[in-house]
Amino acid sequence: MSVNTLNELLLRPLSAFRVLTNLPGHGNLGPVTVTNGGSLKSLRRTNQERVLTLLLKNGPMHRAEIARQIDVSRATVSTIVNDLIERGVLEQVGVPASGRLDGRVRERVAISRTAGVAAGLDFTLDRIALHLCDLERRELATQSVRVPADASASHRVRAAALLLDETLDAHGLTGDDVIGLGVGVPGQVATATGVVGPSLPGQPWAGLNVREMFEQQFGRPVMVENNTRVEAMAEYLWGAGREAATMLYVNLTSGIGAALVLDGRLYRGAIGGAGELGHLSIDHNGPTCPCGNRGCLVQRAGAPAILQELRPILGNEATIEDVAEAARAGDRASSSVLADVGWVVGQCLASVCNLLDPGRIVVGGPVATAGPVVLDAIAAGIERHAMAAVGSTTTVVQADFEDSARAGVRGGAALVLQEAPHLASLLRRLTDPPGSDTTTLRGVR
Ligand SMILES: [Zn+2]
Repeated sequence: MSVNTLNELLLRPLSAFRVLTNLPGHGNLGPVTVTNGGSLKSLRRTNQERVLTLLLKNGPMHRAEIARQIDVSRATVSTIVNDLIERGVLEQVGVPASGRLDGRVRERVAISRTAGVAAGLDFTLDRIALHLCDLERRELATQSVRVPADASASHRVRAAALLLDETLDAHGLTGDDVIGLGVGVPGQVATATGVVGPSLPGQPWAGLNVREMFEQQFGRPVMVENNTRVEAMAEYLWGAGREAATMLYVNLTSGIGAALVLDGRLYRGAIGGAGELGHLSIDHNGPTCPCGNRGCLVQRAGAPAILQELRPILGNEATIEDVAEAARAGDRASSSVLADVGWVVGQCLASVCNLLDPGRIVVGGPVATAGPVVLDAIAAGIERHAMAAVGSTTTVVQADFEDSARAGVRGGAALVLQEAPHLASLLRRLTDPPGSDTTTLRGVR
């Protein structure tokens, strides 16, 4: 399959998600609760979901450990596990038990990799990227398509649905196989509502309830998150943040965003507003910023400010990627400007380090691709301005993913598996045998 342009994509018929949109019971996928009159069946469903929730969270486990953790008998766990294995939701993972004298292999059980797929979508101003992974987060496909910068939000959602539809089709999958979507958009996303706050000028999502829009289109649980945060998740799981307990991800581009990952979980703040590093003021008498503050970091170190300094030298068509490339090639003007930018960013990050002590700072976005010229300056700025103990132990490393959108989609899909509510319930219902007393999602068409 080759889907390179939006026009090419829009010519194709939309199939899987038209069906998904009409699924019965959509929006009511919460865990089943046992009422006073609760039947044995509903108790079994509840226990199934508890087993699935545990395995989604912990990965492969022994049956005995599952029984202990959800406080039911081993026989009950075995019944549930055997049933779910038969339905293809769970699978056995053979692990020879070390030191066991009877030579038996104690098998662990895990969510089957083929029980479903998670999808990540990442929207930048002119591109939509998509990633599909199995339930062990292994990549099945990554695709992207360009969209006009002035495309409306609803246009983008439809284009994303078409891209997803095509990609699933190319892999012998349908919308029924998707257990959830993680969506990255620019701007601040209110955690409670899914509404995107006012942000960049021309931001197509501002003021919209993006979660609702996608749930209506796809009929699946949707997590909507700021781009920087989904990128942070990818760096933490697969990139330069691997094996760090705590990590701060910083993206240097037109805006300057940051995202904190604490022991594997994103920190969002009370309302979802955390991470606006670019709007820390570095000069209270500086020029006013669209955010209402004065002298914000982004006004000094964002891509437009860098380009303003360098376009007289590199030409009016120069992009921030050109600046990074010129610096890598040794261009003195570009190196000098980026080193200054790095120093100022480091100065701001020193305060963040004093407050949070993140240990590892991963820097991504096009400015970071300039390499040591900017990263060393950031590290120097931190070391000079932070308290000694923190300043000397914080490491600053370049992001592994050079393409932020590719990182974002992987992070979005991972977020679904990690945090989407009611995933266990959905997984169980996806594979309910025909004739069971709950809604059957498979085979709807
Ligand atoms: Zn500002």
